[in-house]
Amino acid sequence: MSVSQNIRQIKASLPKEVTLVAVSKFHPIEAIDEAYKAGQRVFGESRAQELVMKEKLLRYADIEWHFIGTLQTNKVKEIAPFIHTIQSIDSLKLLREVEKQAKKNNRKIRVLLEIHVAEEDTKHGFNPDECRLMLDENLGEFENVVFSGVMGMATFTDDESKIRKEFKELHSLFTEFKEKYFADNSEFKTISMGMSHDYHIAVEEGSTMVRIGTDIFGEREY
Ligand SMILES: *Cc1c(COP(=O)(O)O)cnc(C)c1O
Repeated sequence: MSVSQNIRQIKASLPKEVTLVAVSKFHPIEAIDEAYKAGQRVFGESRAQELVMKEKLLRYADIEWHFIGTLQTNKVKEIAPFIHTIQSIDSLKLLREVEKQAKKNNRKIRVLLEIHVAEEDTKHGFNPDECRLMLDENLGEFENVVFSGVMGMATFTDDESKIRKEFKELHSLFTEFKEKYFADNSEFKTISMGMSHDYHIAVEEGSTMVRIGTDIFGEREY
C-alpha cells in the first residue's frame, strides 16, 4: 500500500483525539511530501542534521516537527529556530540548553519528559525518581520551555501483558506529574506512547499521541 493509503487507514483506526506523529527518520523527502499531501502535518525525526536538512527542503509553513531521538546538547541550537516539540528530554542539562536556545530565538519550545519504563537498559529517559527530583528542584527555572507531557517506549517484546504494564506505568506517572506539578498548566496534556508494533495497546492504555514510522513508510534502510 502507498504512504497515503497507510496514513488514511491508521487515522481511521485511531480515536480522533489521538495525534498521529508520522516518524519519517531515514525516509526521503518524497515520502514526507506524499504524507503531507495526504493531510499529515506532524512528523517525527531522530537526528538533528537530517531534520535540519529536511526542514530546509520542505518549506511547508504548517508542518509540526517533533524531535524523538537522542539529542546532544550541542545540537539543540540547530533545531531551536523551528522545532515544535522535543519529545526526548532525558536530563536537566538538556532542558537547560533548550531553555537557553528557545530564549535566544525568542520562542517557546514544547517538551515531553521521556521516562524510562521499559525493561531494557538501552532505552533512554529519566528514571521516575530522577524525574520527580528534577521537577521538585528545578521546575521554577523554565520560562521558554513549555512542559507538555510525557513520552515513553515499552520493551520490544511479543508479551502483550508486559507492554501493557509499562504503558500503564507511564500513564500513571503522567497523572501524578499533572496533579503534583502541572495542575495549572493546560499545555501539560500529552501521553506520547505507541509505535508501529504496539500502538493499539498504547491507545487502549490512554495514549494521546502515537509515533508511527514503519507502518506508514515501510522498513527503514539504515
Ligand atoms: C523510530 C521511532 C519510532 C517509530 O518506530 P516504528 O516502529 O517504525 O513505528 C517511534 N518512537 C521513537 C522514539 C523512535 O525512535
